[in-house]
Amino acid sequence: MRIVRLQTSDGVVTAAQTSHGFQRILGDPASPLAVDPAAAELGHVVEGEVLAPVVPGKIVAIGLNYLDHIREASMDVPQSPLIFTKFPSSVIGTGSAIRFDPSEIRRVDWEVELAVVIGRSTRSVPAAAALESVFGYTVANDVSAREAQFADGQWVRGKSLDTFCPLGPAIVTADEIPDPQRLALGTRVNGESVQDSSTKEMVFGVAELISYCSRFFTLEPGDLILTGTPWGCGEFMTPQRSLRDGDVVETWIEGIGEIVNPVLAPAA
Ligand code: ZN
Repeated sequence: MRIVRLQTSDGVVTAAQTSHGFQRILGDPASPLAVDPAAAELGHVVEGEVLAPVVPGKIVAIGLNYLDHIREASMDVPQSPLIFTKFPSSVIGTGSAIRFDPSEIRRVDWEVELAVVIGRSTRSVPAAAALESVFGYTVANDVSAREAQFADGQWVRGKSLDTFCPLGPAIVTADEIPDPQRLALGTRVNGESVQDSSTKEMVFGVAELISYCSRFFTLEPGDLILTGTPWGCGEFMTPQRSLRDGDVVETWIEGIGEIVNPVLAPAA
């Protein structure tokens, strides 16, 4: 099942994306995580603006987790997952603008990532059982202000600007993605392909990441794990590339969909 959140004239509605359009999920669950994809009944077709499909409690992000990205960045393969965070206030949906002030920030980069939506409270889970904690998957763009990221000694400021976490368009429930390590994913900027890889390039797969995180902190329903980005970031191109006012960024993952975000960064 593909679950979306829509802003309608009746307020925010949880709906399923079907071949008939967006159909309201009966029982009117308050949250996409309240939907049982095996038992959900669908009501009438509704229209509205597609919002980010989940409002995360926390965003756990993983750095340097694709072998092709580690090669382009000339870094060593981490011995264990490299964890950082993005503030939940950075989340936007598809269609919304990535905004920044070019007098403050210039090196703004794209990072397509498979985002794991946690479905149940998880602490100290072995990797062999970890995928049972997954509610579903969505597409994330881990937008990054590189000069802030590399100036601070840690990455929170450069990763947490308002609008720097586009998510969506839907949560695809875990039953439809039995193997999250076989998905093509990529990014286009103004129609040009800049990232094109596969989740099989991950150093630590989804199950290992959930297991590792859960050794140190509890993962709660609605938390997200952003699982890292493949090769093709603008920062590591020659010459370097950055997002500019008027650009359009599309990030996509096979079987989930794509999110499209214009860049709004006019000079003062
Ligand atoms: Zn990232």
